[in-house]
Amino acid sequence: MSHEILKALGLSAELSGTYLGQGEWSTTSDAGTLQPVNPATGEVIARVHASSQADYETIVSRAQAAFKVWRTTPAPQRGEAVRLCGEALRKHKDALGSLVALEMGKIKPEGDGEVQEMIDIADFAVGQSRMLYGYTMHSERPGHRMYEQYQPLGLVGIISAFNFPVAVWAWNAMLAAIAGDICIWKPSPKVPLSAIATMKICNEALKDAGYPDLFFLFNDGGTELAQKFVDDKRIPLISFTGSTKVGRMVGERVAHRMGRSLLELGGNNAIILDQSADLKLAIPGIVFGAVGTAGQRCTTTRRLFVHTSIYDTVLETLVKAYKQVEGKIGDPTLSTTLMGPLNSPESVQAYLAAVERAKASGGTIATGGAALTDRKGNFVLPTIVTGLKNSDEVVQSETFAPILYVMPFDSIDEAIEMQNDVPQGLSSAIFTQNLKVAEQFLSAAGSDCGIANVNIGTSGAEIGGAFGGEKETGGGRESGSDAWKVYMRRQTNTINYSDALPLAQGIKFHV
Ligand code: NAD
Repeated sequence: MSHEILKALGLSAELSGTYLGQGEWSTTSDAGTLQPVNPATGEVIARVHASSQADYETIVSRAQAAFKVWRTTPAPQRGEAVRLCGEALRKHKDALGSLVALEMGKIKPEGDGEVQEMIDIADFAVGQSRMLYGYTMHSERPGHRMYEQYQPLGLVGIISAFNFPVAVWAWNAMLAAIAGDICIWKPSPKVPLSAIATMKICNEALKDAGYPDLFFLFNDGGTELAQKFVDDKRIPLISFTGSTKVGRMVGERVAHRMGRSLLELGGNNAIILDQSADLKLAIPGIVFGAVGTAGQRCTTTRRLFVHTSIYDTVLETLVKAYKQVEGKIGDPTLSTTLMGPLNSPESVQAYLAAVERAKASGGTIATGGAALTDRKGNFVLPTIVTGLKNSDEVVQSETFAPILYVMPFDSIDEAIEMQNDVPQGLSSAIFTQNLKVAEQFLSAAGSDCGIANVNIGTSGAEIGGAFGGEKETGGGRESGSDAWKVYMRRQTNTINYSDALPLAQGIKFHV
């Protein structure tokens, strides 16, 4: 199976992880090897040669040369290049979606969905390429005009997490490309094949049409090159998606060199169900949010606050739904599967450790709570824990696995306070039919997250909105709305078309 998926994308079982531009892949074979593993079987899928220091330097100097051409290419023409990438991704959606499922472990519809997100953001970026708007202002001085414009920033470094092996790159790269920037990507070492396939698809489309190199790729055998990347003054923006622990370090180092960072870090997302919640919507919303991608989305639902009047009914219905999911855990590439494996054995250990911590804090396992040891791969049961407080350490931290902590509440004020009382601030949702409650949740005194939804769950964002979160989630925004601005530098211009030189604020300065 894995052989067929690789073949469909023109990938071999041993390959370079470094795209040097100009259609060239590095021949380096002594800088370490990455061995992406199929999380459903534990088998190595392929061997990927990591990049050397020399590869890295070649990439940066070629990216700098490409930027000189790209920055003066008219933005709508840059949009045409991105349109071609979107078309190429459309053609390869099925195969690339299968590779994402194989390598990351998410189910095939979610793998395909990830590629669809890439296509959607490419389409969005094409339109945006004609809308890089700045304001015009009325000058306080006669015969003067003021306006602002957005100029290309330069090289954009993208460091991505394992759980969205391709979409996160596209959210950044498609907008950076229409902004006039050149992107260098370092993917997660757990999913290099999805990155290599994406580079091949997009760069071949660009090369065939005669465009310069817009997208480069390197893979790091350890973290040495990645750290050099973060510290590299030639790269004005580092867009980092990953854990809060690593992101905090990246943010500090980029700030130290006065660079710009875009941080998309961990979440600890909650759903609130008030007494009027429509359970026909809420239950599937919770199950998809908590169990989808085996709990390995940054927007996964990890906490559930339920009004005491419906608590028992909700818990009983959820446990039944979880039992149904249990019967559909398996190979993520099969159409019958609802939940795939965790990505690595370390993730299984983290899941088991969280279950133990939950029990030690007085929690009760309502369902799940164990790894599936009757088969190969990193499979665990989706888990519901009750009896914990929001302030308990295990509830406060993000365990990247399908564990849901269910807690009762009496008043909506109390529910909103608990939902906000965690270090992270990514996604949040409320299920209610009460307009006042919905508006309170969305008000300035409501959810403090970057994403706040009503009558839909916490995960599965559309690309049209700005995506990201507050507090320890890092504060960055990617994808839609005006997220394109982070990839450009802003310039205010004042033009004097008069014969005098009046100074602002009426200052007189006679020489
Ligand atoms: P991770 O922090 O372990 O790794 C992320 C990336 O950082 C990888 O490419 C990794 O190789 C790189 N890295 C590791 N050490 C580094 C160093 N010293 N210098 C530079 N780069 C380094 O995260 P992960 O396990 O791959 O992903 C899961 C985490 O990502 C979760 O916390 C999840 O919530 C978060 N995430 C957030 C978003 C979001 O948009 N907010 C999206 C996806 C994932």
